[in-house]
This record gives sequence, C-alpha cells and structure tokens, in this order.
Amino acid sequence: MSKLLIVGTVAFDAIETPFGKTDKILGGAATYISLAAANMQVPSAIVSVVGEDFPEEYFDIFKTKGINTEGLEIVKGGKTFFWKGLYHNDLNSRDTLATDLNVLEDFTPKVPEFYQDADFVMLGNLHPAVQKSVILQMRKKPKLIALDTMNFWMDSALDELLDVLKLVDVITINDEEARQLSGEHSLVLAAKKIHKMGPKYVVIKKGEHGALLFEGHKVFFAPALPLEEIFDPTGAGDTFAGGFISYLAKTKNISFNNMKNAIIFGSNLASFCVEKFGTARVLDLSEKEMKDRLEQFKILTQFDIQVTD
Ligand code: AMP
Repeated sequence: MSKLLIVGTVAFDAIETPFGKTDKILGGAATYISLAAANMQVPSAIVSVVGEDFPEEYFDIFKTKGINTEGLEIVKGGKTFFWKGLYHNDLNSRDTLATDLNVLEDFTPKVPEFYQDADFVMLGNLHPAVQKSVILQMRKKPKLIALDTMNFWMDSALDELLDVLKLVDVITINDEEARQLSGEHSLVLAAKKIHKMGPKYVVIKKGEHGALLFEGHKVFFAPALPLEEIFDPTGAGDTFAGGFISYLAKTKNISFNNMKNAIIFGSNLASFCVEKFGTARVLDLSEKEMKDRLEQFKILTQFDIQVTD
C-alpha cells in the first residue's frame, strides 16, 4: 500500500439537477478524490485552501475518514472557493453558473513533509501552476503522477496547463475537454495528440457512457453501470479519478493491464457518487456494497464469444 498525495479544490458547491437543488454544500475535486481514497483504505493527504467560512463539521469529515489535512490551509478572513452548476435533463451535460475562486486566487501550496515522498500523486482540478508547484515539492520522483483538469483552466491558463502536462504520466479528462484540448473531434485522434503533450496514459471520461484508456495504440473501454436512480453527477469524475489512482496505489502496479482494473474500480465508486446529492453517498458506503457492485460490473462486461478464422 502506498500513500497518495492529492491536490485540488475543497469547495462549497450549489447544485441544481432536475431532481432538486442544494444550497452551499461540501464539494471540490480534492474532497471527492480523498473520499474515494478513504473508501479504498488508501492513506491520503490533501493540499488545498479554504476560507475562514469553512465549517468545523467539514474538517471533522476529513478527520473521521483519516484524511490528512496538514496541507489544507485556512485563510483568515478569506472565502472558500464556490462553484454553482445546473444540470440539464440528460444529466450528462451541465452549465457552470458561478466559479468564485476566492482564496484560490493567491494560493501557494505546501506539501506536508510526510507526503513529500509519496509514490502516487493525484493532481485534481485546480490552477495548473499550483499543480506544477506540488510536483516540484516532491523530494523523490513519484511512481505515478495523474492529472485531472477542465475547460475552465484550458480557457484561462492554457500555457501553464501545457507546461504541467509535460510532467505527468496520466491525464483524466472528459470527452468534450479532450476535444477542446486537442482540437480533434475523434477521441482516438484526441488521445494521440494529448499523448504528445506528455501523458503516457490518457483516460477519457464519458459520463454515463463509461471511460476509455489509451496507451499508444492500446485501448481499453469500460462502461458505466446502468443505474436506476441518478440524482446528482457532481463529483463523479473526481470520484472516478480517486478510485482509479487509489487502486494503483493499493496494488503498486502501474502496468496497462492493472490500469484496466483501476478504471473499473473508479467507475464502481463513481456509480455510487451519483446516487445522492454531493458527497452524501460516498460518505456512507460499505465495503460489501462496493464488492457487490464490482460483481455487477463483471457480469455486465463478460461475454463468451469464440473468435475463429
Ligand atoms: P466533477 O463533477 O467531477 O467534474 O467535479 C465537480 C467538482 O469540481 C465540484 O465539487 C466543484 O467544486 C469542482 N470544480 C468546479 N469547477 C472547478 C474548477 N474550475 N477548478 C477546480 N474545481 C472545480
């Protein structure tokens, strides 16, 4: 078991889906990634920033889950990052109604001493210059660095994003963002172009249509589990990324074959995340539920065809 260092937003989210809406609740990329790690019993630390308005009960959530928050800075008098999203009827697309960077505007990350030699690093969604600063603070080269990003940073900090991409092994990105980053419509061509930007492995998330893993000419596809009830897709991408890297950290095996399993573990965790608003479902998830759903994934994807000449 290796330890996992996570950078990303810790946020207040206001979410509206066809099934209801929430006021400011706990969210953020690093939050979802760390909860995925906790569900997989992988020790993790968050590097992020919040304002003085961040409630004690949210800190307690991290503490209860055993997530290290030494690197979670609190800015006196500052306001926590705030994101507001509105989902369309198909739940696969959303409009961002607000992105208030607040304390993120002048954030200088500090990696806790004990995590400076972490073998696995997940650079969750955040300013690419902050993501790079975390890499530069590592005392020894990590076994694997994965990066997640979104259109917001492509629009506002593309040069910095291209710069940090040269230093990472894996990128996880959704299909529309892969198209935007590469300028290619075909996801195969998009992955090819993104490989050339740095990452050896390209993971393209397609929401309820599953995920693709590319390494050069090798491709793997995993579906998402067809679910009866989907309430809120917020955080599914981060939960997926968190499950993916936690599986690799747990098994310490970064081969393409093992990454296929990691994709399934990520998809498995993400399938729970969408069942309730915000973090509610991933905060209340048992090992048995995860195991049972893995069995469902197996049944969903196995078939018995004999390929003959
Ligand atoms: P996901 O649904 O996995 O794409 O991620 C949703 C989470 O990302 C929410 O909890 C937001 O707080 C967070 N988020 C939204 N916009 C940004 C952004 N520009 N940078 C970092 N995190 C963001």
